[in-house]
Amino acid sequence: MSDQWIYLNGHFVTKEDAKVSVYDHGFLYGDGIFEGIRVYSGNVYRMEEHMDRLYQSGKSILLQIPHTQEELTGLVLETVARNNIKDAYIRLVISRGIGDLGLDPYNCKAPSVVIIVEPLAIFPKHLYETGIEIVTVATRRNRPDVLSPMVKSLNYLNNVLVRIEAHLANVNEALMLNDQGYVAEGSADNVFIVKKGCIYTPPGYIGALEGITRSAIIEIAKELGYEVKEQAFTRHDVYVADEVFLTGTAAEVIAVIKVDGRTIGEGVPGETTKKLLKVFRKKVVEDGVPVYYPEAAPQVI
Ligand code: PMP
Repeated sequence: MSDQWIYLNGHFVTKEDAKVSVYDHGFLYGDGIFEGIRVYSGNVYRMEEHMDRLYQSGKSILLQIPHTQEELTGLVLETVARNNIKDAYIRLVISRGIGDLGLDPYNCKAPSVVIIVEPLAIFPKHLYETGIEIVTVATRRNRPDVLSPMVKSLNYLNNVLVRIEAHLANVNEALMLNDQGYVAEGSADNVFIVKKGCIYTPPGYIGALEGITRSAIIEIAKELGYEVKEQAFTRHDVYVADEVFLTGTAAEVIAVIKVDGRTIGEGVPGETTKKLLKVFRKKVVEDGVPVYYPEAAPQVI
C-alpha cells in the first residue's frame, strides 16, 4: 500500500519512519498489550468491545494507557480515515515504553502507542469454500493462573510455537490443549464444534481468549435457534463432531474439515458453519462504528 500512515506516539509517520527504540520493553520483554480490529466497508467492527478488552488487558498488567478510551477510539478512527481504506485490519499496540535493560516497568518513562492499518486476509478466499485442515500440537496453552489468555499481551510466544508446529505439519492452523488435555483454542482463533445440532465452545477458564468473534457467533447462533454450550471438550469430541470451525477477527468463521488426519463430517464445510458465516458477514457492517473519510482523498485499495 502506498501512502500508508502509521500513528506513533502522537504523530502520523510513514512506514519507513515508524520505529521504536530497542530499549522499549515491548521489544525487550514483550511487555505490552495489543488489539486486532477489523474495518468492514468503512465501519470499525465492534469497536467498543475491542477497546474495552484493550483497557482491561492494560488494567490487568498495570499498564496505564496514556489516553482516555474515547481519545484512543478517536485516534483509531482517524488513522483509518487518514489511510483512506474501507476494508482493513487495525493493529493497536501499547507497549510499556522505553526503559533500561532491567525488567522493572517502573523505570519506563511513557508507554508507546502504535496504530497500524493495513489490508488483510488471513486465509485465501478459496479456503472458506473448501475448509481447512488442522492438527493438535504438543505446545500447551498458558495456564490461566500463570498468564491469563484473556490478557492480550505482547507475550505471544505460546501462540508462535503453535504456528511453528502448524507450519511443520504443513497445515494452516493448529489447536492447543490446556494442561489437562482439554481443547483450548487455536493460535489466534477460538474453536467451536457442532454435534447433533448443538454448538459447543470451550469456556474461558479452560484457557482461551474470549474472542469478540466468538461472542458474536454465540449471539448469532442463539438468534438462529441453536443451543450453544460453553463446555470443556477433548480431542475425541473434536474428531467425532459433525462440524468444526474456528472464529477470529482475522479468520472470521472458517470451517475445519480435517483434524489430526480425521475427516470431520463429510469433509466439507457443514451447513451450520456456512449459515453462521453468512449471517456474520451480513451483520459486520451494522455492528460497526462508521469512519468519516476526507472526501477529496482517493481510495487506497
Ligand atoms: N484466541 C487468540 C489467542 C487470539 O489471538 C485471537 C485473536 N484476537 C482470538 C482467539 C480470537 O479473538 P477475536 O475474535 O476477538 O479476534
